[in-house]
Amino acid sequence: MIGRRRLPEERPGVAPVGFKVASLLLSVDGDRASFAGVSIGRGSPYDVEAEARCAYGRRHRSPAARCDCGFYCLTAEADARGLMCVTEYRHAALLRVDVLGSYIRFARGFRYSRQRVTSVWVGACGCGNPAELLVDAGTGIVGRRGLVGGCTGCAAGRVGLSFGSYARLAGVPVAADANPYVRGEYELVPQLVAEITLLQARLDRCQEQLGRLLGSDS
Ligand SMILES: [Zn+2]
Ligand SMILES: [Zn+2]
Repeated sequence: MIGRRRLPEERPGVAPVGFKVASLLLSVDGDRASFAGVSIGRGSPYDVEAEARCAYGRRHRSPAARCDCGFYCLTAEADARGLMCVTEYRHAALLRVDVLGSYIRFARGFRYSRQRVTSVWVGACGCGNPAELLVDAGTGIVGRRGLVGGCTGCAAGRVGLSFGSYARLAGVPVAADANPYVRGEYELVPQLVAEITLLQARLDRCQEQLGRLLGSDS
């Protein structure tokens, strides 16, 4: 029977690396940063290093063959980024994790027992600009408020938490996610050309004045 076939056991020397989408949380006192899943693990916050517990309260170790509990991640960063385009996950963060402990490998990822978050990339501001700080998301679970990325333009006048502060509380590097709208040359080139033209004009003026001062252009 296919269902009873034992899967091959893997014992990697280095922990497999995965990528996942998560929400960012701040404790009620503001002294602890944590993460939460965006689907079945929505109500179960986890720290940088965490052990999975059965989401249904069953008394077995995760991941169990007959339950879908445990941590999940995708092997390819591109697949996790693809998920971040889905409406519900547009303002989620991207995490890179080390897959520790026992795991079940799928075609595109892992379900596993323990993980260490090694990097956090904060999703874009609601306006589409890259996030520059974290602001209240207006969401939360018992004892923890949700945070989302905001740009300084949209966050003007609001209370925010810097990436550095969140990184210190969580114990993991935090940066803004690369923004797809400013990645191409399209929007940047006209501005760059304008700046270069301006600089060139200033340089010409400087040389002209210098030349006059030195009397070399008479
Ligand atoms: Zn379970
Ligand atoms: Zn914005």
